Amino acid sequence: MKRIHTIAKMQHQSDAWRSAGLCIGLVPTMGFLHEGHLSLVDHSLKAADRTVVSIFVNPLQFGPKEDFAIYPRDLERDLNLLSRRGVDAVFHPATAEFYPADFSTFVEVEKLSKSLCGPFRPGHFRGVATVVTKLFTAVKPHLAVFGQKDYQQAAVIRRLVRDLNLDLRVVVAPTVREADGLAMSSRNILLSPAERQRAAALYEALTMGRKRIERGERDAGRIIAEMRAHIERALDGSIDYIAIARADTLEEVAHIAGPVVIALAVRLSNVRLIDNIVAAPCGR
Ligand code: AMP
Repeated sequence: MKRIHTIAKMQHQSDAWRSAGLCIGLVPTMGFLHEGHLSLVDHSLKAADRTVVSIFVNPLQFGPKEDFAIYPRDLERDLNLLSRRGVDAVFHPATAEFYPADFSTFVEVEKLSKSLCGPFRPGHFRGVATVVTKLFTAVKPHLAVFGQKDYQQAAVIRRLVRDLNLDLRVVVAPTVREADGLAMSSRNILLSPAERQRAAALYEALTMGRKRIERGERDAGRIIAEMRAHIERALDGSIDYIAIARADTLEEVAHIAGPVVIALAVRLSNVRLIDNIVAAPCGR
């Protein structure tokens, strides 16, 4: 497995693969890998001839009071996992390589960035859209794989690819969960054992919400109130939001008339967990 640290070397490698007619898959990550990340890697290994995994904790997508400094990192462990999985290259640029001191160009995807997590993490999706654009121009993939775990992020990236005519295919793979339903996340390790145990309530609430929709409830407010009550009973966290939004535009809805995403963000001590589930009224 190749370890590549500079944009120029990455582009050179990708140019060589492209000249040889090989299809390149990219899996962007912030490292501290778990089975969720590895499921995206497996998807790329199957669909592409060469798979590049990027590991870059992107400062641009963290707010000043967020957890950039304590975000879990373990590069050697990640490299071992990826090499055993059969990944061709890991792209791991230094922050100064990606963002020189006079860096001043940003990518902003309007509308889709404004709902759900948008108001709670100002600048987050601008940071995501900017780093992903840079990863695309460095790695030049034919295919990029993202997780449904970050539903809004995937929607933002799909729109970015369409709006800027980027010549690659975006694939969104399902959320991988722990046995009790908690979505795998690099941040789960920051939970105390008691918080970790109670965090299963988030997925319980999401599945409750989906069942209510499938059984005919159309009033989003009622479903959200039930989900909120379930989470508040189970854990002592602070709920950023629980929302039901159109699956395509991410606009929050009061009345459910088509496919929706039920999404939530909850803070347990210092750890902000997000999760979502897609639901559709019967027959839609
Ligand atoms: P991150 O390292 O958190 O930036 O995530 C990198 C990629 O892995 C993103 O596309 C995430 O949506 C995806 N991902 C994170 N957690 C999961 C999970 N539990 N299941 C599937 N994909 C995931």
